Amino acid sequence: VKLTYSPLDLDIATHRIIETANFLDSKGWTPATSSNFSQRLDNNYCAITVSGKHKGRLTPDDIMVVDFQGNPQDEKKPSAETLLHTSLYAKNPDIGAVLHTHSLNSTLLTLVTENSSWKLADYELLKAFNGISTHESSIEFPIFANTQDIASLAAEVMEYLQKKNPCWGYLIKGHGVYTWGKDMAETLRHLEAIEYLIQCELEVMRIKGKK
Ligand SMILES: [Zn+2]
Repeated sequence: VKLTYSPLDLDIATHRIIETANFLDSKGWTPATSSNFSQRLDNNYCAITVSGKHKGRLTPDDIMVVDFQGNPQDEKKPSAETLLHTSLYAKNPDIGAVLHTHSLNSTLLTLVTENSSWKLADYELLKAFNGISTHESSIEFPIFANTQDIASLAAEVMEYLQKKNPCWGYLIKGHGVYTWGKDMAETLRHLEAIEYLIQCELEVMRIKGKK
């Protein structure tokens, strides 16, 4: 992890975030200005999408820098959910990027289950998650209640991560999904795997007609 980022680092992160946002929008996972994306710059700062912009039409001006307490480093307005990104970077130096979407399927899954977590086993695609080398694994994504009190949700997530390690992401009820990884490529791989696996689970429920 760099001690201090350079203007070039910010440029690279900005373009990586925009490129990723365009891809996620093309998948239909970021409806109606929802979702937010970030990339670590160094030990204290990350680049993150500003509040309220459509994620399929971002320009470099729609990316800003915040510190890991969520404080803006310029005049732009950060996403309301900034703390859910920065608290991850502050806690774990191995986290290089964080993606959050409001995809239809991640929202649906949280609405058809009463469980406080989503447990998965025996899928070949579990191997997409960092550290998993066989389908004979079981992994778990916690499902947190939705809230507008982002500081308390961030604290709840951090408390969970103290107990459960490794953890690759979480769901928020009626809201969407958060995932992270060592860099943007790994984080994107995690998100695509989560989306695929959620779709599998929902299709199985439909076919079998049960929850
Ligand atoms: Zn959100």
